[in-house]
Amino acid sequence: MGKIHELGDALSNKIAAGEVVERPASVVKELVENAVDAGSTVIDILVKEAGLEEIRIIDNGSGIEHEDVLTAFKRHATSKIHNEDDLFRVRTLGFRGEALPSIASVSKVTLQTCSEIETEGTEVVLEGGKVVSFERARARKGTDLSVQELFYNTPARLKYMKTLHTELGHITDVVSRLALCNPTISFRLVHNDKKVLQTSGNGDPLQVLASIYGVGIAKNMVQFQASSLDFEVKGYMAKPEITRASRHYMTIIVNGRVIRNHAIQKAILDGFHTFLPVGRFPICLLDIKMDPILVDVNVHPSKLEVRFSKERELMEQITAAIRGQWRKETLIPSAASVMEKREQKSVQTTIDLDIGMEEEKRNAKQGIYSAIHTSVDAGGRSKEEPGKGSIHPVVDETDVQPDFVKEAERTLDTSTEEPTKWRNEKEEELPASNLEVRSPRIPPLYYVGQAHGTYIIAQNDEGLYLIDQHAAQERLKYEFYRVKVQEVANDVQDLLIPLTLEYAPDDFIKIKENQNKLEAVGVFLEEFGMNSFIVRSHPTWFPKGEEKETIEEMIEQLLNMNKISIEKIREEAAILMSCKGSIKANRYLRQEEIETLLHDLRYASDPFTCPHGRPIIVKFTTYELEKMFKRVM
Ligand code: ADP
Ligand code: MG
Repeated sequence: MGKIHELGDALSNKIAAGEVVERPASVVKELVENAVDAGSTVIDILVKEAGLEEIRIIDNGSGIEHEDVLTAFKRHATSKIHNEDDLFRVRTLGFRGEALPSIASVSKVTLQTCSEIETEGTEVVLEGGKVVSFERARARKGTDLSVQELFYNTPARLKYMKTLHTELGHITDVVSRLALCNPTISFRLVHNDKKVLQTSGNGDPLQVLASIYGVGIAKNMVQFQASSLDFEVKGYMAKPEITRASRHYMTIIVNGRVIRNHAIQKAILDGFHTFLPVGRFPICLLDIKMDPILVDVNVHPSKLEVRFSKERELMEQITAAIRGQWRKETLIPSAASVMEKREQKSVQTTIDLDIGMEEEKRNAKQGIYSAIHTSVDAGGRSKEEPGKGSIHPVVDETDVQPDFVKEAERTLDTSTEEPTKWRNEKEEELPASNLEVRSPRIPPLYYVGQAHGTYIIAQNDEGLYLIDQHAAQERLKYEFYRVKVQEVANDVQDLLIPLTLEYAPDDFIKIKENQNKLEAVGVFLEEFGMNSFIVRSHPTWFPKGEEKETIEEMIEQLLNMNKISIEKIREEAAILMSCKGSIKANRYLRQEEIETLLHDLRYASDPFTCPHGRPIIVKFTTYELEKMFKRVM
């Protein structure tokens, strides 16, 4: 007799459950997605003990017909696709027909449902995937599905759970993301009878953002968009003055589905290039629409990862949309708001999809039940440190935000930014050196003085400005060198004493391989004996008096790069040179010098941050000044 046999349904469902149902948050994700697919407009998510005791989803969607109810719990049973063609044009969140059987196999499920065309509903109870009862029930349109004692029959799974606090964080992330994808649906997430999140379902993504991140942040978000034949890209992003330490605040939606994609994240970050300090990331929502034929969602069991057919075009469009929008905005943060933001640490939630396995394993040792008892105090607040790179919602025993959404609506409506009048004013002559006719990015700034040899004080009708003179100079130099490194011309000049450089053999090889790329930015190397080079000349515009350091550091940068491209080398070279010879802090400038600097800054392409992403200019509005001195209340 042969040794190979087919696995029974019960066992294959449990195996599938290992992929689809990783943790309570994945159950929430699958069930809420089903509710969304069913056309619901209101979805309630009621969770007990971070989902381990109960996850209950009540929707007002299409419901399931009596005769389909048992089929829905069979493996690969779906109403959403019929043939192979459909697979390439998926418009629903689900289509694999795996969630219900998988979830049912590792929990106790009670489902009550009634479709539009029926006068009587259905109730089915399953335990470990086996039907315990199946009968007619009351006719409430929609579906009410309760999952109890998740993983009760798979103790190994349970061990992998982290603390309640962490699991609840993941659930909140999942619901937040689904809410962002579906602004026309009203979501309510309740944990142990306390409301964690609620959205109004009025269709405005900005209000969903306000419910998740708070009104303060939503008010500081700007909209961007760009469409091409293939893609429609739009979204909201917080001004660069508001940043986060992790990438989890970048939400990417493709055709109504939240996805995870490094290339897109990178495209977003490129749009923010030089606007964000090192190690800081933006808060943004990116919503991309395309023909489903251009995206393959069937590469990952939970459909988080997708593949694009025209990836490069899409990336370029995203970067251009973001960059283009920043070019239209005046990004001078108000000094008051900069200070406020420092303090306002607790954000509602981060959206955390990448959970490091290492971290999981480490936490698994604790065992979930001991974790439940040790780490959650009476207030429901965890004592453990939240997971790396993610701040989880503070679930307070007192209702955190009773009318949060209403508050969000009210405040957002009144946030009418004053139009920038100064742009239309007749502008003074452009500097002769500036061939490109640019319009100024900031209003005229008039000299007041200088403080601590570091900050320039300026003013105009709108308020008082502080400018970091070093950062401002760096930005101007960066823009100058950025143009220069594009077109390294013949205007080279000889070094008085040629520079000889010696390297370790592997570095030497790497440099030799990329010699032509270095030439593209003005570093001309000649081989000179074993493992060394000689440099005899350099472009005339290299930072005066610091030519040698510049050359050495540019080679050093190349050696530190993983992926070497001319564009990257140019960019790094421009940043490097911008740091050279800029006015250092603690240097007193004459009034004329300051006036020139202010003038040049106004006409810079991006006068708001230095190339390293630090702010150049902050503002005290006239109103803020009056408030400070209690001239207005
Ligand atoms: P999939 O979503 O991939 O089709 P599921 O196992 O999640 O597979 O669900 C199986 C089927 O059950 C769905 O195709 C749908 O017809 C039905 N279903 C599940 N949840 C709901 C719901 N909340 N409302 C209406 N129908 C539902
Ligand atoms: Mg589904």
